[in-house]
Amino acid sequence: MQFYRMTLPKFETDLDEARANPFREVRTLGWLPFLQCSVCGEVGTGTKLRCDPPPTNELLELLKYRTIRPNEWMETAEYYGSVLNVSADKLNPGMEIGPPRGEMWRDNATHIRHAGLRWANSEVVDALDKLGATGVQFHRVKLHWAFPWDDFFSPVGLEFSEAKRREPSESTPELWELTVVGQAWRRGMTLAKITKCTICGRFWFPDPNYLDVDEGRWDGSDFFSVDRNPNIVLVSERIRDLFLARGFLNCRFVPSSREGFP
Ligand SMILES: [Zn+2]
Repeated sequence: MQFYRMTLPKFETDLDEARANPFREVRTLGWLPFLQCSVCGEVGTGTKLRCDPPPTNELLELLKYRTIRPNEWMETAEYYGSVLNVSADKLNPGMEIGPPRGEMWRDNATHIRHAGLRWANSEVVDALDKLGATGVQFHRVKLHWAFPWDDFFSPVGLEFSEAKRREPSESTPELWELTVVGQAWRRGMTLAKITKCTICGRFWFPDPNYLDVDEGRWDGSDFFSVDRNPNIVLVSERIRDLFLARGFLNCRFVPSSREGFP
């Protein structure tokens, strides 16, 4: 079976890429505790739990940055799981908690907006829904216009930014994060091979250009990540076909088994 990595189009320069994607992810409620490992230092997993609990002072206090020792993790996960009403095995150290949030400098009106993550407009979400796409959840992005003084940090450059003419509360496009929950393993990879440190259990992603999916250890989802790496998103052929047939813009699909992936 052929799988595809879902990624950005190719841009000539980083500035071109930024101008085509004038969005930035912003921190949501907070994090689960990070681990302080005697070998690795501070360890987080870069994973996110999408939920929308009321941001009470107690919760915000609980989700403030802090570190714990690796051997305290199990007990900590049980505790946070009970507070967030989530099974402890779904939680990871340093996990970001809350709904997706972002800010924007300009509306580029494409189907997919990239802000590190994939945000889709409702046309894409409807099409995926109709197709019965699996391994993906849709979470509405809480977007606002960047504050005018943030124009200095604008990824698109002052001359391209609309943000300075907008109130941060002015209406923003309806976008949905494509939250990938499907899972697979690369052929030949095991938990032992991706475990970099046995004290804190930190994972790494060896040989990142190698993306040969072991179909026997693929959960059958249309959208999935491999070897627990949330940054790599692969899709099935029917998803790529849908995007091409519908002409959804601002993303690219690269066959996953290809060597020397860019
Ligand atoms: Zn470690």
